[in-house]
Amino acid sequence: MTRHYDYLAIGAGSGGIASANRAAIRGAKAAVVEAKAVGGTCVNVGCVPKKVMWYGAHIAEAIKYSSAYGFEIEQKGFDWSTLVKNREAYIERIHGGYKRGFESNGVDYIEGFARFVDANTVEVNGEHITADHITIAVGGRAIIPDVPGAEYGIDSDGFFALTERPNKSVVVGAGYIAVEIAGVLDALGSDAHLLVRGDRPLRYFDHDITDALLERLKQDGPELHTGCIIERVEKHSDGTLSVHCENGQSIDGVDCLVWAIGREPATDKINLEAAGVEVDEHGFIRTDKYQNTNVKGIYAVGDITGEAQLTPVAIKAGRLLSERLFNKDMPDAHMDYSLIPTIVFSHPAIGTVGLTEAEAREVHGDDVKVYRSQFAAMYNAVTPHRALSTFKLVCTGPTERVIGIHGIGEGMDEILQGFAVAMKMGATKDDFDATVALHPTSAEEFVTLT
Ligand code: FAD
Ligand code: NDP
Repeated sequence: MTRHYDYLAIGAGSGGIASANRAAIRGAKAAVVEAKAVGGTCVNVGCVPKKVMWYGAHIAEAIKYSSAYGFEIEQKGFDWSTLVKNREAYIERIHGGYKRGFESNGVDYIEGFARFVDANTVEVNGEHITADHITIAVGGRAIIPDVPGAEYGIDSDGFFALTERPNKSVVVGAGYIAVEIAGVLDALGSDAHLLVRGDRPLRYFDHDITDALLERLKQDGPELHTGCIIERVEKHSDGTLSVHCENGQSIDGVDCLVWAIGREPATDKINLEAAGVEVDEHGFIRTDKYQNTNVKGIYAVGDITGEAQLTPVAIKAGRLLSERLFNKDMPDAHMDYSLIPTIVFSHPAIGTVGLTEAEAREVHGDDVKVYRSQFAAMYNAVTPHRALSTFKLVCTGPTERVIGIHGIGEGMDEILQGFAVAMKMGATKDDFDATVALHPTSAEEFVTLT
């Protein structure tokens, strides 16, 4: 027996779920295959558990500074396992929501690992399933470095599996995940160390913003170690680790080491050769702007394409693909990969959309005007912790079109979305200035920059 579908998504993560649901809503007979847990990386070991931990870190920070607001709080303890238990219960509820969504949309949810048999057929649990259209949305996994003792470390999945707070933790890496996990560990009371091989984390971000991040790390932690290329990891008889860097720095007494040095595509085990789908030298499936692979009827969306590895990108690309395939009114539907806003959930959050100042100067030369503001958000203006926020606009042309928005500060995670809309619409500095400020907020800085 072979089941046949109009549309089959491999991987029930952000991209696969969104595209299968939209295909079914547009009348296609659709299914999605998932090897692990519905929701994929974002829901199970990514955005969702990360944000819950980040909120936990916020509460810890609020307690720390509450005395300035007149509260006399005696903190009796912090139970990591309670936070994890409640987080996982929430994730269980999300699983239920997805499964009900599949039922109401008429999407078949198939549990198992899919491998290509040919360009129209995959094998799952010994069964052959055929489809007219197959989308590869299998995501990625953390890279583990090839150094002696690397196996004593965990990746971000392992971090979310922790049931106790580590006493002393080391996070290696300089991207989103390293900054976010090290920040959470630090705020929740671990003696946290962030090891980067360069001179700063997030070095592709605007340097005014990362300069401000460096200040915050100095004030609050986690402790940053720069120039650290890991040489080896040593495990001692008491179970603790020593992390040795090539420059002679060593961190001893570590009970949790997290590798966060990037992610690689999960294309290696799905037998792409049988379908003739090509991958690039890193294993990513490159697509055209319509998410088409080199094989007719096979598409790819999300992290596996090597494009911006963000949940809303996978979702939008997946939905638009299904609109193109199954909605006769949208034959040209495709994802616009320009001006993607993004947040790093650091402490405080970093938000960015468009070009950094350095990128803008490369593209527009001297025709770049920058506006920036450094200020103490009111939230911590009354505490002894007078940390500064930094907000910045990058503009070009005679109309001063806004081509970059960057910020680090309390609330930046919620501030950016609306400004990203304005930028997508081509807003100029005058448009920003013509907008009446919301007071008292941090966001108002963006419309009062001089
Ligand atoms: P995934 O969500 O990875 O889903 C792929 C699915 O395919 C998985 O469930 C996998 O089990 C399944 N699969 C793989 N192979 C097969 C197979 N052969 N057969 C069947 N199933 C298979 N993005 C944000 O926008 N905001 C954030 O705050 C954010 N935080 C993150 C934090 C962490 C720690 C990580 C790791 C990522 C984070 N991301 C965040 C990125 C986001 O999670 C990804 O961009 C998004 O999940 C990509 O979706 P996807 O559909 O491409 O792949
Ligand atoms: P990133 O690609 O963001 O960063 C990894 C960084 O680690 C590299 O840029 C590099 O920085 C450093 N690195 C690479 N190799 C090594 C090495 N061998 N030793 C030490 N450092 C190394 O990867 P992440 O794993 O942090 O995240 C993957 C993606 O997931 C992100 O790019 C993002 O798209 C997504 N994500 C999004 C989040 C959000 O939206 N908030 C949160 C988490 C993830 P350098 O060259 O400077 O050393």
